[in-house]
Amino acid sequence: MQKNNEVKFEILHMPPMNTNSVLVSVGTDAVIFDPWGKVTDWERVLLKRKLKLRAIYATHGHPDHISAAPALASMFDVDWFLNTNDNFMVGNANDFLDMFELPHIQDGYKKPIDISKGTIEVLPGIDMEIMESPGHTPGGLMFYFPKYKILLIGDTLFQESIGRYDMPGGNKDKLFESISNLYKKNLSDGTWVVHGHGMETSIGWLKKNNQFFK
Ligand SMILES: [Zn+2]
Repeated sequence: MQKNNEVKFEILHMPPMNTNSVLVSVGTDAVIFDPWGKVTDWERVLLKRKLKLRAIYATHGHPDHISAAPALASMFDVDWFLNTNDNFMVGNANDFLDMFELPHIQDGYKKPIDISKGTIEVLPGIDMEIMESPGHTPGGLMFYFPKYKILLIGDTLFQESIGRYDMPGGNKDKLFESISNLYKKNLSDGTWVVHGHGMETSIGWLKKNNQFFK
């Protein structure tokens, strides 16, 4: 029997919309970031890869980043994590889900557990630094994996633009401050950046091509 301890980061596009959900796995253990889409589709993904779900994390509370989180967490009896400042969005998501004919988030599903900062080991040997990034939403977070030089940036910054700040809880000044804090963190140019939507970039690419990244 060979034990496979390969660490994998996979970007998944679950129908019916292009949110970048991320599946991280090592061996047979997995965590999911920003699980958009249907629970049944996620079940299939996990089954096909023979993975056991350990936890779910959300960069922010918008429904296109959490639609499957409460049901998945309940079904697999795992925790799901969201900054508490975005909790109000979870209960308001169902109108949005109706537009995509997705199942509602039920009252009886698991509630999110608060995360805000610090470094946690999400899977054996995989450390993740949590960075607060308010502005697009009040409870926005970024997740950085130092060993793998991967940053899940959420909807704070896109390829050539920034996240919206005109939705409930959005704040332009805070968004610019969050971007500036990230810039000052001076991550290496080769750091791979996964945006909430669209193609992935790198820190070096953003420095050259995104006028807001300063
Ligand atoms: Zn968003």
